[in-house]
Amino acid sequence: MGEHGSRGGDRIADPWGVRTPYGAGQAWPARVDEQAGHDVERWVQSACVLCSNGCGLDIGVAGGRIVGVRGRAGDRVNHGRLGPKGLYGWQANSAPDRLLRPLVRDGGELVETGWDQAMDRIVERSRALLDTKGGGAFGFYTSGQLFSEEYYTLAVIGKAGIGTPHMDGNTRLCTATAAQALKESFGCDGQPASYADVDHADTLFLVGHNVAATQTVLWSRMLDRRRGADPPALVVVDPRPTATAREADLHLAVRGGTNLALLNAIQHELFTNGRVDRDWVAAHTLGVEELERLVADWPPERAAEVCGVPAGQIREAARVVGAAERLLSTVLQGVYQSNQATAAACQVNNLHLLRGMLGRPGCGVLQMNGQPTAQNTRECGADGDLPGFRNWHNPAHIDELAELWNVDRMTIPHWAPPTHAMQIWRYAEQGSVKLLWVSGTNPAVSLPELARVRAILEATEPFVVVQDAFLTETARLADVVLPTALWGEKTGTFTNADRTVHLSERAVDPPGEARSDLDIFLDYARRMGFQDADGAPLVKWHDPESAFEAWKACSRGRPCDYTGLGYAKLRGAGGIQWPCTGDAPDGTERLYADGRFPSEPEVCEDYGHDLATGAEQSPQEYRARQPGGRAFLRAADYQPAPEVPDDDYPLLLTTGRSLYHFHTRTKTGRAPELQRAAPEAWAELSAADAAQLGVEDGDRVRVESRRGAVVVAARVTGIAPGTVFVPFHYAPQAANELTLTAWDPVSKQPLYKTAAVRVAREG
Ligand code: SF4
Repeated sequence: MGEHGSRGGDRIADPWGVRTPYGAGQAWPARVDEQAGHDVERWVQSACVLCSNGCGLDIGVAGGRIVGVRGRAGDRVNHGRLGPKGLYGWQANSAPDRLLRPLVRDGGELVETGWDQAMDRIVERSRALLDTKGGGAFGFYTSGQLFSEEYYTLAVIGKAGIGTPHMDGNTRLCTATAAQALKESFGCDGQPASYADVDHADTLFLVGHNVAATQTVLWSRMLDRRRGADPPALVVVDPRPTATAREADLHLAVRGGTNLALLNAIQHELFTNGRVDRDWVAAHTLGVEELERLVADWPPERAAEVCGVPAGQIREAARVVGAAERLLSTVLQGVYQSNQATAAACQVNNLHLLRGMLGRPGCGVLQMNGQPTAQNTRECGADGDLPGFRNWHNPAHIDELAELWNVDRMTIPHWAPPTHAMQIWRYAEQGSVKLLWVSGTNPAVSLPELARVRAILEATEPFVVVQDAFLTETARLADVVLPTALWGEKTGTFTNADRTVHLSERAVDPPGEARSDLDIFLDYARRMGFQDADGAPLVKWHDPESAFEAWKACSRGRPCDYTGLGYAKLRGAGGIQWPCTGDAPDGTERLYADGRFPSEPEVCEDYGHDLATGAEQSPQEYRARQPGGRAFLRAADYQPAPEVPDDDYPLLLTTGRSLYHFHTRTKTGRAPELQRAAPEAWAELSAADAAQLGVEDGDRVRVESRRGAVVVAARVTGIAPGTVFVPFHYAPQAANELTLTAWDPVSKQPLYKTAAVRVAREG
């Protein structure tokens, strides 16, 4: 990519671009970033799919190829800005190693074949399994990067065609805790806040959220507020001295796995110093007595011993949060992938409930997503949830779906909680899941304990189907590989972390014989002959727009109501937030402005869990609490992580992202600028640990856990002593060779940030 057509300077060296400062309550100035050749013939509306921020952009097309991107100035999410991944990542579409034809395994080798032959092989195996073993023999493991229309179609196939409870997304690895914490606190998934709250907040509290790296454009918005009039205070909780932490007024360098102790101490201070809005709490919440009792045992001095943050800093954080009049909190993987994930995420919700700071400009919480379309995986039921945030435990919700799909209610799995991803893989390992269908994700690099995952994929059973645009580490181990269209080569909608829905139009044709994931699912449904109760096709839609209309109907009356949206309305728009209905035709900026929550037993998505054990609350127990539209203040005591450093493995491993890459680099690794910026894995060590190990910056080091080892270059940084950081994007040298098979008891999200390791200099 040449210099021409590039607006915004060198965005590898300066990922956030020039500052456009603005003051509290003002509009964030537009700044259009562009990376495109001179020869753009037309621009096609879309949004970026390389993180959960969902920046609106136009795709530049020339000669039938994508030749660049340009931020959309009128988009509510980014006001024209794009970050490095958005500016350069589109080049993956024209990578020379795109899959062009289906592959099937013959004689141990993957060989090219036609669509009919590949689909016949899948359908033949599916029919045999359905006839002899039933729906429970099928496992579906999908993505956070497809479109709503695709997830909804997959959900209907899985839940009403096959009838399997074994369907989840890689969203289990990134946002299962976000969803669960929202359900546990408010009764239902859905972000209370909006990115526009950055414009109004007087205090930003970022917990385990390295926004400077994970959502570069949102960080630009925060930085612009910080450089303008009335800048918001910034408090950051992170074990690493990230760019986010370095900007903070107060950086709490928490020891990995101890977020809960820290957050309990902050709440202790809010109670002690009279910073709780008692009237609001009494009117709108349940559980304050239990919470107050529990956090009374967590004075800052006790928490300091556990989490390594000085008591004075904990007090100062509580003072800042307690004095805020417009508090915006965000949470991400530093909480979700760590010890006691859901319990800790709920404590951040608690802060807002205790202070009555929800639903007003600048007041809210964003339990962030990691992936661009993770929200849709959850909403449409392609993960462990039922479509439309319905509650598997509520018979009326099952009846609604049975009526909508015109199927016997007993076809829809609801006899137990939907199977979470780690359990689906366990069933595949044990042999009861005999067909595993992986779409748009690369578990052979992204799941924990990779040696085990490879063994499952390499075994004769399950029969593995992979849908992907590239021959990923996972696809190489499949029995059938189906080549897919990427973003820009298909049409669909997706929803970002603040409920903003975008339409992404097809700009170019997919290469070779690649097809959209939607076309593949529709073809499978047709070939399998799935029918409704009247013998009509179960899947009644045939293209993206008709699929969206079907999904809209499913969302009607639910908290994520899409019925006011449509392709025509989304065309030309700058993103519209759900719920969008006849009563709210322009969408809804903030949830819970009236202090009422979707916690009624008839409405809620979940009846709640014990945060320590994950034990489910029964419908009867839930009803007995008479939530009546009130939110839940959730109390939880600190417990150490299941694996902590010891004499043999004395350091704590935490994994995470590079600013320049997304997930397993399937796309960003094929964008030259991004790959050059971060070509290989590394291990961050503190100066004290490096000195003790005799390691210098740049030395090769072997990082080893009880499960595996990687050899990478050392970087000596200001990371907390005792902690080692390895980015998870790379293979070989994948951080997940080291991680353990363990998960949060409530959200079932794997613990990627709590393995014990040892480090030694190589050679
Ligand atoms: S912040 Fe995220 S959505 Fe926006 S351009 Fe960067 S990668 Fe894309």
